[in-house]
Amino acid sequence: MSAAGFHGSKYCWMNGSVIPTDEALVSPMENIHLGIFEGIKAYVQGDVMGKGELSIFAWKQHVDRLWRSAEVNGLTIPYSKTELLEGVKACIIRNDYDENTYIQPRIWPKERWTGGESHVVVPVWPFETLLGRNNPKFAEERRFMVSSWRRISSDALPPQAKSWANYLNSMHAIREANRCGYDNAVFLDSRGFVSEGTLACLMMVRDGKVITPPVTASILESVTRGCFIEFIPDLGYPVEVRDVTRVELYASDEAFLCGTGGECTPITSIDDIKLGEKYPGIITTEIAEYYSEILAGNVEKYINWLTPV
Ligand code: PMP
Repeated sequence: MSAAGFHGSKYCWMNGSVIPTDEALVSPMENIHLGIFEGIKAYVQGDVMGKGELSIFAWKQHVDRLWRSAEVNGLTIPYSKTELLEGVKACIIRNDYDENTYIQPRIWPKERWTGGESHVVVPVWPFETLLGRNNPKFAEERRFMVSSWRRISSDALPPQAKSWANYLNSMHAIREANRCGYDNAVFLDSRGFVSEGTLACLMMVRDGKVITPPVTASILESVTRGCFIEFIPDLGYPVEVRDVTRVELYASDEAFLCGTGGECTPITSIDDIKLGEKYPGIITTEIAEYYSEILAGNVEKYINWLTPV
């Protein structure tokens, strides 16, 4: 694959060193599909829509989850968390990035089909944010459906681990949504309660309160969700973590996704039922603006969530 074929990223970190992405070749016999990964973002400081110095958001939370995912799947990561961080920083610097950058450590078993020592590769590439002041991407319409696929439950696969295998569940839901003319989908869990989006967690607003399903609703323990639960009360809105029914979601004033990839994504409608009076919702917009400032290092209280590159 050419570098241009991998989001234009020229260098990645592989098994301990920064190498040209074109040289990061593995045999098709490797068990990458049995691996785990993490999705992390580094944002431009000062203004997330600008260019300049980068800081990694919530590095510690992401890397701790990576190690937990490895443990759940019996994998051993042959580097320390500090070595991985130094590798990521070196890789971003070598690529000369001064724009928002996505970081995706991928880990898979070296020899046997599962467990034991692992390979580690960390591709990094720029992404376009939907956050920031008056970003037109933020206000785009997004029509969702409730998927007929249920979110994987912990009696089949561990939803809390970020394993590639779990994403086939998401792929089926996205394909179904697209086939039915929707942009994306919301999963219910095996009990019939709202779980999450296909690639992000879900929050809804009702009567000035932000409500999000619990970890026991088969969600991925989202780093972003954890941060949102912590900072949203600063804006004067209480956050409730509890089971949510499908009909409550239909009746919500606003709903949005939260995740590293999804950032803070407003949802226009679910099953063709328009949510609330105004799109994007006022509270969703306020949350997204505050989150943008936190990511850009402009909120002193949360500066410790940022790791300068
Ligand atoms: N759920 C799923 C299925 C996801 O893929 C993601 C993205 N990692 C999330 C939730 C959000 O998690 P995080 O905030 O840690 O990115």
